[in-house]
Amino acid sequence: MQNIYANYRGEQYRMSNKSYDLIYYNANVITLDPNNEKAEMIGITGDKFSFVGKFDAKLVNNAKNAIDINGKTIIPGFIDLHTHLYKESHLIHIDLGPFKTYEDTIKRIEKEVKSKEKNEWIFASNWDESKWEDEKVFLRKGDLDAISPDNPVYASREDGHLVSVNSRALELIPLEESHLGIVRDSNGVPTGILKDVWLDLSPYYKKLIPKSIEKSTQIAASKGITSAVDNLSIMPEGQKNTMNAYFKMDLANKLSVRVFLNPTRELMNEFVRLGIPQNWGSSKLRFSAFKGFFDGSIAAYTALLDFPYHNTKEYGDIFLNEEELVNQITTAEQNDYTMCVHAIGKLAIERLLTCYEKGINKAGHITSTRHHRIEHAEMVDDTSIKKAKELGILLSMQPNFLKWEYPGELYEHRLGKEHYQKLNHFAVILEHGMKLNFGSDNMPLSPLFGIKMACSFPSSDIKIPLDEALKSYTINNAEALFMQSELGSISEGKYADFVILSKSIYEIPISEISDDLIEKTIVGGNQVYLKNEI
Ligand SMILES: [Zn+2]
Repeated sequence: MQNIYANYRGEQYRMSNKSYDLIYYNANVITLDPNNEKAEMIGITGDKFSFVGKFDAKLVNNAKNAIDINGKTIIPGFIDLHTHLYKESHLIHIDLGPFKTYEDTIKRIEKEVKSKEKNEWIFASNWDESKWEDEKVFLRKGDLDAISPDNPVYASREDGHLVSVNSRALELIPLEESHLGIVRDSNGVPTGILKDVWLDLSPYYKKLIPKSIEKSTQIAASKGITSAVDNLSIMPEGQKNTMNAYFKMDLANKLSVRVFLNPTRELMNEFVRLGIPQNWGSSKLRFSAFKGFFDGSIAAYTALLDFPYHNTKEYGDIFLNEEELVNQITTAEQNDYTMCVHAIGKLAIERLLTCYEKGINKAGHITSTRHHRIEHAEMVDDTSIKKAKELGILLSMQPNFLKWEYPGELYEHRLGKEHYQKLNHFAVILEHGMKLNFGSDNMPLSPLFGIKMACSFPSSDIKIPLDEALKSYTINNAEALFMQSELGSISEGKYADFVILSKSIYEIPISEISDDLIEKTIVGGNQVYLKNEI
């Protein structure tokens, strides 16, 4: 239906606009619009596509501005359905991702300590011990103490569910005995490893948030992302500070891309009380769904499995009260809100689906079009896929996590040989007739990296065609956000959000797909990224 509507609106534009503001011609346009799959030329009026079709010299001559792009490829802008966008700038947390050894990672933190005042906090993120060449261990408190006796250090692992801190940080942070994830030695002394312990440290970096948001949206644009869902901090102060900064950045027109905010589910009642509907906001910034956590992560041994983690007796954990969640799902149904709940392990996914079923039934299917989501859904199996499909629950998954699913990588280490390739079965999900929804979770923030992974992983349960991968990062996500009549494809009447690639991704080997292909990103008709200019 939405395409007919979009085309109808396009006709209106065509009739009312004799001259287009901007035309891109001599283009290989992959529209992802089933009614109009290929085009050679696009016209833009205001912030919308007003022409998508064959080359027309008369229209080019009449346009206010026309650009010949020499046969380059245009695709719809990516919609990243799961990010923690505002952190991507690494203005707040220094980026430990690029380092290949434990030693270099420690050295980077040491350099940061030297650049800071005494007692100033050091935040770092993105370390991944599974790829270090010297030692594959979590950052040790003793080593952090040696380089930083006075500055508190808080260094979170790439998945964000496990943090290494030094002694100074342990003195300052309000750890409570009840925090289950404080790892202790045999004498009960904290080792400096915190698993799924969430702390509200935003007051220490609050002033950096606005700049971080501005830069993060610029980085997103450089990756071809034109819309991103930001899952906000689960800590109340952190969440409030981030939302407040987002509102101000939008008012100042400093957001390069469209952002959909996912507040935590704890805030839902406030939204009900204030009468704020889903998707309320501006054209650049909207409230989207409510986020919750069911289990943890595989890296932190906290995703809830049906077998113990390799060489341990641990099965993982769940972090919420299921009865309370069911009630919240019912409230969401009754108020036309979408829930997005993080679940990774097989048992967590099964139990979350049961909660969704109970919550939806309790509400009497009042809003069966809400399509709630499971975030990550890595260990979804045939039974869960069928149930998700039946309940209209979307699987919001991360193709880039496949980097851990190769032999010898993190998942084999955590799950053992027998189990480590039971995750992210994208091809199986498609066989069940379900659509896929992709997001990057900033690991890395790169749809093209994820698309390359999903289209090249050597397993028939996982590998999917390029077409499906592209849709899973564009039109399918527009549907998930209830924005399919405005976003997700190059169709007349929709927002002019698109990317120009130097080569057609259909004509190069999958292994050559990378962010390097992105030449220009346009949001609402405005250029927000031009290669080499960021
Ligand atoms: Zn996430």
